[in-house]
Amino acid sequence: MLSLEVPQNSSNSEFVHNNRILIVEDEDVIRDMIVLALEEEGYEVAVASDGRVALNLLQNATSGGSENSFDLVVLDLMLPQVHGLDICRLLRYQGNIIPILMLSAKASETDRVLGLEVGADDYLTKPFSMRELVARCRALLRRQSFGALTQSSVRKYRDIYLYTQECRVVVRMKRLIYLPKNFDC
Ligand code: CA
Repeated sequence: MLSLEVPQNSSNSEFVHNNRILIVEDEDVIRDMIVLALEEEGYEVAVASDGRVALNLLQNATSGGSENSFDLVVLDLMLPQVHGLDICRLLRYQGNIIPILMLSAKASETDRVLGLEVGADDYLTKPFSMRELVARCRALLRRQSFGALTQSSVRKYRDIYLYTQECRVVVRMKRLIYLPKNFDC
């Protein structure tokens, strides 16, 4: 006989999946909290506590098989070894379009804009709630799964990237220009 009993944590059950998230954060307490929150949602997580380790993991993921790959990066800005902005810039320069949620203690508009201009997909200012972080991760992964961030939506010519889905152009890793909505990509 079929059981109609609703399992505990039923609110999370629909989000159980195998998405793999890399968390790059040098503050142990914050990193542990993020790990816990995302694992509770059913995500598989990997961690890096400095920029160099993060870059190595991401570079290996690019050239490795699917079991080494990541679906999303939660990336702190102020990191030892390599700054979060430089990681973001380098990944985009290399044509890596993995969704990036940038974390920062800096709340100024300039910092947020800079983070987004170097290629972050979303930006969260510390302190933030774990619920909001999880919701934003989920939204980015949903966008990705619907194909908004697929390779086919990015065209590259030298150091110019045309993001056709979002109608924006990134030039020399930092400049961002919004194209008219009716732009024919
Ligand atoms: Ca930090």
